[in-house]
Amino acid sequence: MEDNHFLYALSSNNAWAGYKAHQNPHFFPKLADGQTPQILWLGCSDSRCPETTILGLQPGDVFVHRNIANIISPTDINTSAVIEYAVAHLKVKHVVLCGHTSCGGAAAALGDARVGGVLDTWLTPLKAVRYANAEVLDAIKDEKAKTTKIAELNVEAGVKVLMANVTIREAIKERGLEVHGCLFEIGCGRIRDLGLGTGKGGSKGKGGWGLDGQEDVVRGRHAQIVFRGGRGEMSVK
Ligand SMILES: [Zn+2]
Repeated sequence: MEDNHFLYALSSNNAWAGYKAHQNPHFFPKLADGQTPQILWLGCSDSRCPETTILGLQPGDVFVHRNIANIISPTDINTSAVIEYAVAHLKVKHVVLCGHTSCGGAAAALGDARVGGVLDTWLTPLKAVRYANAEVLDAIKDEKAKTTKIAELNVEAGVKVLMANVTIREAIKERGLEVHGCLFEIGCGRIRDLGLGTGKGGSKGKGGWGLDGQEDVVRGRHAQIVFRGGRGEMSVK
């Protein structure tokens, strides 16, 4: 079974479901009743950025759209439909666009070689970000730092598109929807608030989520995490 990852994953799921049900018999029946997520997460498809896991949250907490290099194109019907449903129907309170370090899409956009197939077309908005910021990017000699910088600039460009989205604009005006731009640092597991969108200067000016060395409590529907000095301790209710 160990050499068949699909079978391993299924048996892992079985163990997880048993553990969750044992821990809280109401967990799955409550989930089956419906969803009221507070966060819409727009992120990269990269396997190292599983939003619910890295946020320390639970099924039911985050509505998600992920694509290669977390590119937000106004004409992409997939992204637009997810935004529409999450904002207008589920009425999420936060829209989070999150890029990440070591992004393959960002690295590809910095190169001049064709990736092939549909990928070059998909990465065009990121290429546009590259050429529009050529001076800033060319000044960075370290490749890793350059990839991180274009990932940040990509989030900035994406947040601008989000802030121009009609559904999002209406929700900001009518009920105070918040839009955030973040970067997930894979090397340390932490999410940095880039201070973009509605919460310029950070999430309500906090400059990060529970990273200020102060105690901060984040409650999901099914679990809560208490951050002390940046160290997360999870207690599941
Ligand atoms: Zn990526």
